[in-house]
Amino acid sequence: MTTQTKPEEAAAPASGDAFLSVRDLKVHFSTEDGIVKAVDGLSFDLERGKTLGIVGESGSGKSVTNLAVLGLHNRKTTTIDGSITLDGQELTDAGEKQLETLRGKKMAMIFQDALTALSPYYTVGRQIAEPFMKHTGASKRDARVRAIDLLEKVGIPHPQQRVDDYPHQFSGGMRQRAMIAMALACDPDLLIADEPTTALDVTVQAQILDLLKDLQQEFGSAIIMITHDLGVVANMADDILVMYAGRAVERGSVREVLKAPQHPYTWGLLGSMPRLSSSVDEPLLPIPGSPPSLLNPPSGCPFHPRCAHTDKVQGGLCAGERPALAAGRAAACHLTGEQRQQVFIDTIQPRLG
Ligand code: SF4
Repeated sequence: MTTQTKPEEAAAPASGDAFLSVRDLKVHFSTEDGIVKAVDGLSFDLERGKTLGIVGESGSGKSVTNLAVLGLHNRKTTTIDGSITLDGQELTDAGEKQLETLRGKKMAMIFQDALTALSPYYTVGRQIAEPFMKHTGASKRDARVRAIDLLEKVGIPHPQQRVDDYPHQFSGGMRQRAMIAMALACDPDLLIADEPTTALDVTVQAQILDLLKDLQQEFGSAIIMITHDLGVVANMADDILVMYAGRAVERGSVREVLKAPQHPYTWGLLGSMPRLSSSVDEPLLPIPGSPPSLLNPPSGCPFHPRCAHTDKVQGGLCAGERPALAAGRAAACHLTGEQRQQVFIDTIQPRLG
């Protein structure tokens, strides 16, 4: 069967003047075995003061997308096509120096594992103060005051003393807070948080998410929250982008996507998530199979080898033609609106409660 590909995401997301705008982004890696299409035609927008949750399994392209925004890919082995504009400035052809200036000052990243991201050799205070000095030209003394102020803001007790501690002297939750302080040192307009609470217990997770929300209100930053946890997205985000095999398969507001999901992959993600209201013997419904190889992705809809609804689509379209993602609230799937509605009412809604 021949595979036809539509320009899946040529249609721009419905949005006005986005602060961050990604259009038809392709991030491909050259490997010994061939080209890995880690991101393959992705478009989205993000406005100031808003949070976009990007969800999907490992290998769906979430982190690769954001490393491209930050300009952190190795340009020798990575091909980046498409457009990424931040506050009107094109980033895909920006030089290393320009990107370095933007990182920290205009955009910053909060990593999953603070222990790896923080250097064990320097005090927490120094690691917060250095990017501040570098980007603002502040004196050592002023940078120290800034570090103490930020540690206080992120809820570290006795910041005057703790500023001279090393990361190993902090608990896991405190290290995560310190990393947030580090990311906020220069008031970045865009914060990218990659699974920022995965390594933390539930209580600390809730505190960190609340902290991020408070800081967003204070600093007005735009946030991209990368996660596989729909609970985190429900708590934090305004909009959701569901990614599968390097592409967006569903997009909408948090309410739209979590209350009335339209794509079989999103149904699968929701079905595999435990719910507080479910009884202890209610089984989780994991998505069968595993994410596809991006070296040799499946023809047509990349989800078709794992999808339970291909028999509802006539003419072998699922394996033969890649479904497009329309503008605005949309899902990339060949099922008709009525078919999706029917499956949702029969099998998904009762589970969501
Ligand atoms: Fe499933 Fe076909 Fe829709 Fe893909 S296009 S999600 S295979 S029904």
